[in-house]
Amino acid sequence: MAEQAEEHRPNETGGILLGHRNGSHVVVREIVGAGPAAVRTTTGMRPDHEYQVQAIDEAFTASDGAVMYLGDWHSHPDGSAELSGRDRRTLRNIAGARDAFCPQPALLIVASTEDGVWLPVAWTGRLGRLGRWGRMTVTQARLRPYAAPA
Ligand SMILES: [Zn+2]
Repeated sequence: MAEQAEEHRPNETGGILLGHRNGSHVVVREIVGAGPAAVRTTTGMRPDHEYQVQAIDEAFTASDGAVMYLGDWHSHPDGSAELSGRDRRTLRNIAGARDAFCPQPALLIVASTEDGVWLPVAWTGRLGRLGRWGRMTVTQARLRPYAAPA
């Protein structure tokens, strides 16, 4: 992610997170980039949707259904680790989209620090009882490297 973020600085870039859920844990096993038709600006980016749908399908099939879409990631070259209003709307849209099969999406921000290092910060969204019309709770998640079971 840091490599891709650096490559596209000062524009934002991003993509999707693939993996599985283990109870309340989100285990990211694969990071997919924005794709060849993505549009990147300094204030946002629009991923190559077809490229990403294909990546999800391929990972799902190759893993016999174990690897799924978990959410999105993108860079904040301006350094903010917080979610923008648009980021919150994105989370809400994913959570409410039936075809995403992702009611509790993750959003990983890689924020550029002053020394030019990219710092990952993870957020998850969860819709309340009213579903897509209700409030959405956004919480910051703890990140740690995943050690595959031996
Ligand atoms: Zn953002």
